[in-house]
Amino acid sequence: MALLVVGSIALDTVETPFDKIENALGGSTTYISLAASYFTSPVHLIGIVGEDFNEKYIQLLEDHGIDLDGLQIVPGGKTFRWGGKYHYDLNIRDTIFTELNVFENFNPVIPEKSQKAKFVILGNIQPNLQLHVLEQLLNPQFVVTDTMNLWIETALEDLMKVLKQTNVLIINDSEARLLTNEHNLIRAAKEIRKMGPEYLIIKKGEHGALLFSEDNIFSAPAYPLEDIFDPTGAGDAFAGGFIGYLHSVRELDFESLKRAVIYGSAMASFTVEKFSTKGIEDLNKLQIHDRFIEFRELSRFDDAGKF
Ligand code: AMP
Repeated sequence: MALLVVGSIALDTVETPFDKIENALGGSTTYISLAASYFTSPVHLIGIVGEDFNEKYIQLLEDHGIDLDGLQIVPGGKTFRWGGKYHYDLNIRDTIFTELNVFENFNPVIPEKSQKAKFVILGNIQPNLQLHVLEQLLNPQFVVTDTMNLWIETALEDLMKVLKQTNVLIINDSEARLLTNEHNLIRAAKEIRKMGPEYLIIKKGEHGALLFSEDNIFSAPAYPLEDIFDPTGAGDAFAGGFIGYLHSVRELDFESLKRAVIYGSAMASFTVEKFSTKGIEDLNKLQIHDRFIEFRELSRFDDAGKF
């Protein structure tokens, strides 16, 4: 049974204090699908691009075994473009421009063969489109959702409907605070879980991530990288590694979710080491496994011993 990935596909113009790149491959569904493809198959991508979308990007996705039957290519249309600029503190990013182009009229149509998908990840797109995807699915059993400040501020009603049907919500700390008007993340997590999601993941940029269930909290460390070139897509690659791993093992207990958080963190760490999707284009399973082990060593300690 396929893993269904829905979200944006973009050509990104990204400026960091170190470099600038124009019209590079980006978008939430792109990062999620590439990251997930190292763990599982088939990955069914649902998205929209214009005729200007470079054939080499299609080839890249196909080379990763990603099923593109749900990719709409609009004749004469222009692909969604997004521009972002990072501050010296790479946790702070300004959106410089958003050109929706074909994304403005995106109607995510799920091909019949993908409607049976049990594992679905709703990348960051308008909540009403996320709802439209869920309506087309026959019996989704594990729905992972991402969202952003924009939708919390402008489409809260629809977002609440999505959350009711969500098993795992993945957001960052500022979004968790915005969604709940609560500064403390532990209290915010309790509030958000009451909105629907059984599990909640709060990403804290270069400070790792927290996983919440009803009874447990798991804290994942961040990978100590000396060189972060481009943080774009880290959150999406995290989500892709997370659901890709769970889709491959088909186990959804808390211990499996903890491992999935570490695999997600590993994929995010590879992503930020290079510009655009470059960091997750040519990996192999051994590299991912090694990084998982490095994550484990980062926060492993002995029993309390005598004191
Ligand atoms: P992240 O860094 O994980 O927040 O994801 C960045 C990606 O999200 C970029 O590749 C952008 O193309 C894409 N993106 C930015 N703004 C939007 C938006 N309003 N809707 C959908 N995708 C977006």
